[in-house]
Amino acid sequence: MIRLNDITSQLLKYHPNADTTLVEKAYVYSAKVHQGQVRLSGEPYLSHPLQVAYILTRLKMDVVSIVAGLLHDTLEDTDSELSEIERLFGKEAANIVDGVTKLSKMQFTSRQERQAENMRKMILAMATDIRVIMVKLADRLHNMETLGYQTPEKQALIARETLDIYTPLSGRLGIHWLKSNLEDLCLYYLEPEIYEAIKSGIAERRGAREAFIRDVKEIITKKLNDSDIQATIRGRHKHFYSIYMKMKDQNLSVNQVYDNLALRVILKSLRECYEVLGIIHTEWKPVPGRFKDYISLPKANMYQSLHTTVIGPLGQRMEVQIRTWEMDKIAEEGIASHWKYKEGLGASQTDEKQFAWLRQLLEWQKQVSDPREFLETVRMDLFPNEVYVFTPKGEVKRFPKGATPIDFAYGIHSEVGEKCSGARINGKMVPLRHQMKNGDIVQIITSSKQHPSKDWLDVVKTPRAKTKIRHWIMTQEKDQSINLGKELLEKGLVQSQLNLPNILKNEQIESIAKDLSFHSVPDLLANIGFGKVSANQVIGRLRPKLGIEEPPPTGIVSKMVSRIKRKQSTHGIKVEGVEDMLVRFANCCHPLPGEHVIGFITRGRGVTVHKYNCRHALDADPDRLVEVQWEPTDQDVYLANIKVTSVDKKGILADISAIMVQKDANIIQADVQTTMDQKGISHFTIEVENYKQLQDIIGAIKKVKNVMIVERI
Ligand code: MN
Repeated sequence: MIRLNDITSQLLKYHPNADTTLVEKAYVYSAKVHQGQVRLSGEPYLSHPLQVAYILTRLKMDVVSIVAGLLHDTLEDTDSELSEIERLFGKEAANIVDGVTKLSKMQFTSRQERQAENMRKMILAMATDIRVIMVKLADRLHNMETLGYQTPEKQALIARETLDIYTPLSGRLGIHWLKSNLEDLCLYYLEPEIYEAIKSGIAERRGAREAFIRDVKEIITKKLNDSDIQATIRGRHKHFYSIYMKMKDQNLSVNQVYDNLALRVILKSLRECYEVLGIIHTEWKPVPGRFKDYISLPKANMYQSLHTTVIGPLGQRMEVQIRTWEMDKIAEEGIASHWKYKEGLGASQTDEKQFAWLRQLLEWQKQVSDPREFLETVRMDLFPNEVYVFTPKGEVKRFPKGATPIDFAYGIHSEVGEKCSGARINGKMVPLRHQMKNGDIVQIITSSKQHPSKDWLDVVKTPRAKTKIRHWIMTQEKDQSINLGKELLEKGLVQSQLNLPNILKNEQIESIAKDLSFHSVPDLLANIGFGKVSANQVIGRLRPKLGIEEPPPTGIVSKMVSRIKRKQSTHGIKVEGVEDMLVRFANCCHPLPGEHVIGFITRGRGVTVHKYNCRHALDADPDRLVEVQWEPTDQDVYLANIKVTSVDKKGILADISAIMVQKDANIIQADVQTTMDQKGISHFTIEVENYKQLQDIIGAIKKVKNVMIVERI
């Protein structure tokens, strides 16, 4: 069993000025609270935190990490309180213990690679202090080393989780020895037969391998001596798991994996690396496509080395790694090779190099602006642009930062997105625009009455949700436009005494749709609704085909007049001193009830009512002007012409029409023209009850997106 002294003496080796009293204190505390507990192996429980702390010295961790390693199971397995740990050992140590405890409570097993990647990232994102992960990895290594005492089910579960989550994490942190140890242990529990086969295969060829390495070493050493280069050459078999991966990838048996030998040449300088590469390539034939220069292009975890595979002296493949001592250290120890313990400083205050390493490690260097601030806190936002949340079933989902429950809902299924009416996050109701945070448990509430809205486009962050919402709105607008198109067409047809259902059954309408290059009749109708083609245009093409004559061109006017005549008894205008006068409203200014008006006595056609300031009224013979007043009426309607200038966008006519319908105005005529400068000019003739209603409508249209000017004409 590891003793306290082993830990402190290891610590003092790489950190000579370390204050070991806190480590001793943590040891005493841990021994006290774990008193009487035993591990499945029968050993006192304390052996586990001691081993973990010892592994942490192998990772060259600082005093606080080692203290946290000694205490890492106290919250979970004893009566200790976080506040007590904080009081006795400080906030940093307490935070690490807390972080490790939280990680231990989560089960990260998933068969899906992408899901596992999300989990790894989430662990990094949640562990704001990298030391949480280091302690967790040390904990996991010791647990894997003592996994034999667990039940076979537990063994498989833990080994799977380790392989999915913790070995890639140690790889990402560049700690090669830890990664390969964990991988081999996982292989032992997950594929025991293959493990044994590799083991015995390697043992069988041990003699031959050693002789081979000796020969190769000799050859290289001789060549290097000629060039006056000093090198350390190491030859060993690859670790079991990487042999296993090769077998799996290339569908080979263990005896067919020949290049399970890795030769490593370690040199003093970078220049020598390339020199040695040249020497080796001259001596042995390189295998094409196998050369990799990780020196000029380091891996994301800062790994640097030259890799090549050559056909060795006995005609077998041989992988050669060439690197400097510095690179070798980084390759083995990863993140730990960058801790530097200067006098009186802990890992949290190490030099800029460590920080630079972390930055590059995760390739998010662009995101960090102030290295100092970062170093002070050792806090890391490793994935500044991403947020990881859970489904109620514990699945992890990744989103861009700032994503909302709507994104989450669309992430499940587009139908869930469309019906998403609210969300519960960690059990609490939140608005749809709420931004999710790392570790949130998100539950979506749906309602059959809910529909996507344009506002959603402003709060969603995922392209998927954006696309789906846009698509929904477009489909919706198309339906609306088809209905509007039908209505407009129907109104136009009335003048020709045709009815829409018959026309839609007639095959001529289909050929008109084709002539106007629309895919189908509904497409044609939608485009009438969108304003891309006018109902009159369609009717104009329809008439000759059906052999119908054109009606007199005064469609609107005559209609208006007939309407006024029809409602003459309640036309709502009282002409001063005259009873039962024939009254019509001027077509130039369309006065509305409530507006200041004046009458013009025509020759034989009664009185025409103009707006008071209408140009025609002002120009008229003053002798023939007559005072008129509005009479209160109930259900009368009046015509108004509106001109809307907008950006030429599909669906704008539908948007405007929807407002008129919403405000109870009847559309008599609608027409859209597109100008050369991409503007849409829409003319509407609508029926309104009074001036106020018209003002209302104009106000509402002004608020429609893409509308620039609304005028009454
Ligand atoms: Mn533990």
